[in-house]
Amino acid sequence: MSLVVILVFCGLSAGVIGRIKGGSFLLWFAIGFCLPVLGTVAAVLYRYEQDELLRRCPECSAVIPLHDQVCMRCGVNLDWPDEVLQRPARTP
Ligand SMILES: [Zn+2]
Repeated sequence: MSLVVILVFCGLSAGVIGRIKGGSFLLWFAIGFCLPVLGTVAAVLYRYEQDELLRRCPECSAVIPLHDQVCMRCGVNLDWPDEVLQRPARTP
């Protein structure tokens, strides 16, 4: 019983940290629950989604994350772009 409580708290800590960094709470909760301590460490080391660079799709002009291989809007395969868009500064 106490193991479940510990796992839930590990999941919560990973979920909250992942959510702060712009990820999915449920996904990080599952990671923290299945990998106690390791999941939380992974959430801490994980990149900030907000800091990711952007690009513009050459087909439909949608603005998408730089690391995307396929445009989520029109489905075109993407090569490495010539120009990289800077995300506007975060407002606190
Ligand atoms: Zn597109």
